[in-house]
Amino acid sequence: DSILNIIGGGMAGSEAAWQAANMGVKVVIHEMRPKVETFAHRTGDLAEMVCSNSFRSDDSEQNAVGLLHWEMRQAGGIIMEMADKHALPAGGALAVDRDPFAQSVTEKLKAHPNISVSYEPVNELPTDGHWIIATGPLTSPELADAIAAETGQDALAFFDAIAPIVYFDTINMEKAWFQSRYDKGETEEDRTAYLNCPMDKDTYEAFIDALLASEKTEFKEGETAGYFDGCLPIEVMAERGRETLRYGPMKPVGLTNPHQPTVKAHAIVQLRRDNALGTLFNIVGFQTKMKYGAQKEVLRMIPGLEEAEFARLGGIHRNTFINSPTLLDDQMRLKSKPHLRFAGQITGVEGYVESAAMGLLAGRYAAAEILGRDLGTPSPATAMGALVTHITGGADAKTFQPMNINFGLFPPVVDAKTGRKNRATRYKMYTDRAKEAWTRWLEDARLDAA
Ligand code: FAD
Repeated sequence: DSILNIIGGGMAGSEAAWQAANMGVKVVIHEMRPKVETFAHRTGDLAEMVCSNSFRSDDSEQNAVGLLHWEMRQAGGIIMEMADKHALPAGGALAVDRDPFAQSVTEKLKAHPNISVSYEPVNELPTDGHWIIATGPLTSPELADAIAAETGQDALAFFDAIAPIVYFDTINMEKAWFQSRYDKGETEEDRTAYLNCPMDKDTYEAFIDALLASEKTEFKEGETAGYFDGCLPIEVMAERGRETLRYGPMKPVGLTNPHQPTVKAHAIVQLRRDNALGTLFNIVGFQTKMKYGAQKEVLRMIPGLEEAEFARLGGIHRNTFINSPTLLDDQMRLKSKPHLRFAGQITGVEGYVESAAMGLLAGRYAAAEILGRDLGTPSPATAMGALVTHITGGADAKTFQPMNINFGLFPPVVDAKTGRKNRATRYKMYTDRAKEAWTRWLEDARLDAA
């Protein structure tokens, strides 16, 4: 059977279809809209942008998402081509005129001789053939149940509860220190798994005041079912009592501050290593609905995080996603059912661009498999490779939460020998290295096809 079936014609499914069709493979997109609706989509178009109309920064030299744009353009991506065609003026960002964008993606896909669209929901996991599941954050409940039956309930989440993630190199280690609670664990990895930031009483009280006063985002209608299952936002914990956090995620027990061994901290904020590289740390238990501006202000009150830069800020959203690090192989196939691939937001990436990027890769992998070719993983030094490597293995499976592309996912460009460089120089080193590696990967794929 040489047909590629794709469930979901959103950002990821549309890009996957385009890539596979251009490699000469017949594709059927199965899209449930407009027959079945979601709370966020408004139209029956493919590749509908459900919320903001921004693809974020378009700077491919200094910004990781801009680099991802660049890589997708080089790969002939339909999402980038149509976004460019319908770009709106927005300074350094790529803003998109959403309706004409989605309409032209839809028209172009339908006009492709290798692509057809079936407007029906898929409610069961297909038992054979070649499939990509790209049903996104609002996967229909029927299909979500079928996925959970295969993966186990615990491996499928319906909400993301994202704790803010900090770049390690922006943490002040003259105030923070490495230690796991009660010194659990023996290896060097264990010893650097947790970072701690101490708070005295005055700082704690000021922090609680700031939390309570901060601006928060409200849930959309239809979004909250099931939300209070064990992932309360920190500000809600603070509302329940000023001491709640001190008995919860900020408890000051089992830890000794080597900078001030005789002073007992009133509260301690813990950060946990978020990736194998050790470049990212998440603030444990700090999922929040505070607005982004407020988060930065409040979190920088934490001693040691005064200058913190965030790889991503916290949030809680309706979001169906699987535990990719345990479930998927490096070709984005479900290990237990390799005829099923996953792509897009459901794999645990976050954002229009990242979702489309994972569609691009899954489409190419699936087409290569059908054509009997081998397509290796792009280098983790590329944006595409960094993202797929993170979700299929680099991320910690136990705390896995959706991820945006950011330079913290890339192997570091500077080491102890080459010394510290300023940020602009470092970012340029990342993007130069990525562009070279991505060009090589695309060229290898072309040669392989020839
Ligand atoms: P989608 O684009 O949602 O595509 C999935 C498709 O699968 C949909 O067309 C859906 O109808 C279809 N489908 C679902 N179940 C079935 C089924 N059983 N059978 C057939 N078809 C099915 N990202 C940003 O970058 N910026 C934002 O501002 C932003 N805002 C968001 C707001 C909300 C409310 C949500 C839920 C997400 C938001 N995202 C945002 C995150 C995410 O990047 C987008 O949702 C993005 O569209 C994900 O791409 P995708 O292809 O994985 O899923």
